[in-house]
Amino acid sequence: MGWSETAAYIFIFMLGLCFGSFLNVVIYRLPLGQSLIAPPSSCPSCGKQLGAVELIPLLGYLLLKGRCRYCEEKISILYPLVELAVGCLFLAVFINFKLTIDAFYYLTLLFILLGTALIDLRHRIVPNNLVGTGLAAGLAFFLISAAARYFSWSGRAILSASFVDSILGAVAGTVIILLIILVSRGGMGAGDMKLMALIGFYVGLRGTAVVLLLGFIFGALVGITFMILGRVSRKDALPFAPYLALASLFQVFWGDRIWEWYINLLS
Ligand SMILES: [Zn+2]
Repeated sequence: MGWSETAAYIFIFMLGLCFGSFLNVVIYRLPLGQSLIAPPSSCPSCGKQLGAVELIPLLGYLLLKGRCRYCEEKISILYPLVELAVGCLFLAVFINFKLTIDAFYYLTLLFILLGTALIDLRHRIVPNNLVGTGLAAGLAFFLISAAARYFSWSGRAILSASFVDSILGAVAGTVIILLIILVSRGGMGAGDMKLMALIGFYVGLRGTAVVLLLGFIFGALVGITFMILGRVSRKDALPFAPYLALASLFQVFWGDRIWEWYINLLS
């Protein structure tokens, strides 16, 4: 790897850290119905406005040794972890997809899914704003891709996903979760259905099958583990968005291989 390439990846990682910092604001404020832009970030404990140093992703937390400078209250480790996760996500997506529209497309999906998963874990809701933003962005990507095809721009600006497949994926995801809601009566919510419509749109029909399959496997594994540990009863509704998010991560990076493995298993 040359110097310029290394520098590019460091830049991408740092850009990811900044987006992670923004995602923290989204996770914290969106469920409370607060503006994402104003007022500036403050300590959740004492309300003191954060200074420039505190706002540096990752480094700010380390310099403060995980405590608020004013009230000494511990800062949740979740903040730097989210920043680090998004930094790594940016790096992984751009290494895998290079500098193409596909990279931005899947990055948008996974970024929104990480936020949704964390909000679902804490508040048991899937915010409509996030799903709506994701769908709008997805449509915008297809418009850019169509323009790139029409005006013969670089091939990097053309999506490898097909729009028809995206519609099929969105419909399939919605219908399957709707059936589960009807059959299980409360095992899943409308939020899961909207989220699966979003995921189905981004990953297409085959991807939807992989995501649902993996999502249920992850959900079952964690559910059984918690039941054995006696942490939940069979009746507790568990948030499903985190499993769908994790399954989507697998689909984006290893979807083709998982599909091949699954088909071989059946034949
Ligand atoms: Zn404080």
